[in-house]
Amino acid sequence: MAEKSLPKINKIDRPFWKGALEGKLLIQRCRACGKLQFFPRVVCTACFSRELDWAQAKGEGEVHSFSWVFVPRNPAFKEEAPICYANVVLDEGIIIESRIVGTNLRAVKTGARVRVAFQETADPQIRLPVFELAN
Ligand SMILES: [Zn+2]
Repeated sequence: MAEKSLPKINKIDRPFWKGALEGKLLIQRCRACGKLQFFPRVVCTACFSRELDWAQAKGEGEVHSFSWVFVPRNPAFKEEAPICYANVVLDEGIIIESRIVGTNLRAVKTGARVRVAFQETADPQIRLPVFELAN
């Protein structure tokens, strides 16, 4: 029986997952140049500084692009198909890969406003940031 895959948390992204558990969408901000970045990394992608802080994103943005997964590679996700996989541009200006969830998925389109939600998983220590249509 296949199991749903979960993120493998490491020391670099641990604060991101801790934030998600608390209902916060955290992104890295460089202390040296101010750039925001996702996904979590060891250094700033703009200036290579290792001085990175965490900032709480508002959790709102818009659909940048999306696609439908009708046949998940992992059969454990079969019952959730079709899955709407999306790149969301947060209002802070960075792109995060995630899923759009909700009952009105047919309304998903490029530019649609979305807001973050946090989805429970089989591991009580991991909640996944997903997005719902905002209206
Ligand atoms: Zn920087």
